Amino acid sequence: MSGPRPVRAPRGTELSALGWQQEAALRMLQNNLDPEVAEHPDKLVVYGGTGKAARDWRSFDAMVRTLRTLKQDETMLVQSGRPVGVMQTHEWAPRVLIANSNLVGDWANWEEFRRLEALGLTMYGQMTAGSWIYIGTQGILQGTYETFSAVAAKKFGGTLAGTITLTAGLGGMGGAQPLAVTMNDGVAICIDCDPRAIERRIEHRYLDVRADSLEHALQLAVEARDARRPLSIGLLGNAAELLPRMLAESAPIDIVTDQTSAHDPLAYLPVGVAFEDMADAAAKDPAGFTDRARESMARHVEAMVGFMDAGAEVFDYGNSIRGEAQLAGYERAFAFPGFVPAYIRPLFSEGKGPFRWAALSGEASDIAKTDKAILELFPENESLARWIRMAGERVHFQGLPARICWLGYGERDKAGERFNDMVASGELAAPLAIGRDHLDSGSVASPYRETEAMLDGSDAIADWPLLNAMVNVASGASWVSLHHGGGVGMGRSIHAGQVTVADGTKLGGEKIRRVLTNDPGMGVIRHVDAGYDIAKSVADERGVRVPMREG
Ligand code: NAD
Repeated sequence: MSGPRPVRAPRGTELSALGWQQEAALRMLQNNLDPEVAEHPDKLVVYGGTGKAARDWRSFDAMVRTLRTLKQDETMLVQSGRPVGVMQTHEWAPRVLIANSNLVGDWANWEEFRRLEALGLTMYGQMTAGSWIYIGTQGILQGTYETFSAVAAKKFGGTLAGTITLTAGLGGMGGAQPLAVTMNDGVAICIDCDPRAIERRIEHRYLDVRADSLEHALQLAVEARDARRPLSIGLLGNAAELLPRMLAESAPIDIVTDQTSAHDPLAYLPVGVAFEDMADAAAKDPAGFTDRARESMARHVEAMVGFMDAGAEVFDYGNSIRGEAQLAGYERAFAFPGFVPAYIRPLFSEGKGPFRWAALSGEASDIAKTDKAILELFPENESLARWIRMAGERVHFQGLPARICWLGYGERDKAGERFNDMVASGELAAPLAIGRDHLDSGSVASPYRETEAMLDGSDAIADWPLLNAMVNVASGASWVSLHHGGGVGMGRSIHAGQVTVADGTKLGGEKIRRVLTNDPGMGVIRHVDAGYDIAKSVADERGVRVPMREG
């Protein structure tokens, strides 16, 4: 009988499969379900609501069994978390090909998906859950760090030193904000209405101190700002009350954003409701609560717009607060931009995105060595160096030791080849699995997030992630995945992933060079095609061929 049980990837150099490519897929599948990594391992759920690594335990067992016997010229096919075939291919082909949660356009909604899921025919693969390259909360911290780093580069000369950021929401994801700001040398005032959220962030060393009052918070913030000393300050209260007050008092705020759970009005505390009564009030009268929450969000967003008018840098952090405020009748809700068009798109245009790797040895020292290699390879990139150093000190590994950092076109292949050499020379104890999030420069179509407000209006064109998957297959990736609905839900995104193993062989090095050039190259050509000047310069300077610009 096949059923829930604790899963943990083997460590060390002893293989249970016929080669490192298969062994890597096997270990990363198991690692995604490690209780240290997965949110609900018993249900095969890795993260992001119901994002799964395998459809059911029988499918998991069949994948493990198949990967252990899979030959160097064979490929296992996975249909929404279930292995459905093994085909003879060749040694350059991926060892695993994965398609998760895909539905035909007119059927691509949650209702139909749930119906098919209940019949046991599909599963929700999220982004890195069903493609076996999730590495825990390090990804959230790094993404938030990168966003604040892009704010610093755009507006504040490359550092947040001497600036004060005001935000709210210290929950599961929003709790990364204070540390991401201080990692960029800035000061952050972070409001939450839940005292436990503030305490938890202090315990986990994501937040430095808690202020007793608004006045106290501002005093601490100004002192730290003037000394150019990083500091994060928790402030208990309702953001919809505190932001308008701070605006009225002309608080010296340079940057404003928000990560309260505004996407769900029943999870946003309206003004006039005590935090202790929130759950009861929402359960008793959901419609009335929703109206009050939206009304408060309108006041909250109005204050954000006020800060923008006063000269602050203001952006939406993907929680739909602008849309909710607009529903409450606030007309200027969309006066400030979302974070992707504002900061991330220029990075995407350079092919930059969340590059990551995991040490199959299980040894933290392998990651420390790769950290050192990254610092040596890109000495001119200060923001990258700061992240790598701070991550080395502060990030607690979950499951197999791993690292994430943003690298672009012309950088990822360099890092990958160096890593492969380090495996070949024996400097690393075992091979590395090198992959990335599906939230990347040329691998996703998602009009509410990654492709919001594209220059040429091509937000919903999904040919790009399909080409991305095909190019990675053609370039020699170890496993390639094509998913629907990750991040933002059914009907709203199509995205692709790849993982390539640095096994220390010459062939492995050849594959790495092609995959880690062509994969971010998709980001460059996608943004050239949409008309972004940065992408055109990158293509010209670094030799990315774009036929429509030739001749
Ligand atoms: P969460 O539910 O864990 O935390 C939300 C926090 O907001 C809670 O601690 C709650 O107490 C607080 N809160 C609610 N109403 C408040 C109010 N009026 N004043 C002050 N505090 C209030 O949610 P999370 O996982 O941290 O995510 C937060 C939001 O950010 C979500 O909407 C999520 O979708 C969004 N998000 C988007 C991205 C992205 O687009 N890349 C990334 C991270 C988070």
